[in-house]
Amino acid sequence: MRQRNVKNQDEILSNCSFYTDDLATKKNSLKSKYTKISLEIGIGKGQFIYNLAKQNKDVLYIGIELNRGVVALATKKIARFMQEDKEELTNLILTSYNALNLNEIFNEGEVDTIYLNFSDPWPKKKHEKRRLTSDEFLKVYKAILKPECNIEFKTDNRKLFEYSIMNFNKNKMNIEFMSLNLHEDVVSGVVESNIETEYEEKFSKFGPIYKCIVKF
Ligand code: SAM
Repeated sequence: MRQRNVKNQDEILSNCSFYTDDLATKKNSLKSKYTKISLEIGIGKGQFIYNLAKQNKDVLYIGIELNRGVVALATKKIARFMQEDKEELTNLILTSYNALNLNEIFNEGEVDTIYLNFSDPWPKKKHEKRRLTSDEFLKVYKAILKPECNIEFKTDNRKLFEYSIMNFNKNKMNIEFMSLNLHEDVVSGVVESNIETEYEEKFSKFGPIYKCIVKF
């Protein structure tokens, strides 16, 4: 994905209390206060992780985003949410980082849940390794996730969904839950709730949202 440069992005990030460039130190200083650590990889503008963090104050939420400009926009949006809600969340950290290197930050089995929302599909075979559900990424997730803990994945891209299911199977992962139309399943009550991302709000009118929950 093209890097998105945002005016004054470094200044925005250095003035943000819930952003860090040193995730390992920040995470280690906070984790004893929380029962769980959850990651969202590829947070985009941040609405999903903000709402999760607001709902579950006992969980430390860490948003990982490759693109520094995008994460700068997310910090601004989340700061606005906090102002509107008159509440400063302390269980939320954002960082700009490539998820492929997360095993350099997290210890083995330190993470409780990983959320992948509307990951870039990288349709060309030569870019397969960049897909967030490729073998390379699954190896990293397996190292940092606690045994029996979940990866929650949703997408509107049928081909990426099929590829991911095949790859989860190939890596001997268990599929705990699957929906081929998440929004319909929420309306009919099959699925209890769904926090929408910005991408989901924009594109769900064009077709179904696929979701699965898997574990190693
Ligand atoms: N999850 C958001 C949503 O649903 O609105 C954003 C979806 S956007 C299509 C995918 C995001 O994943 C992009 O912001 C991209 O920069 C990020 N991303 C892609 N590869 C990544 C990686 N290796 N590590 C961290 N973030 C990554």
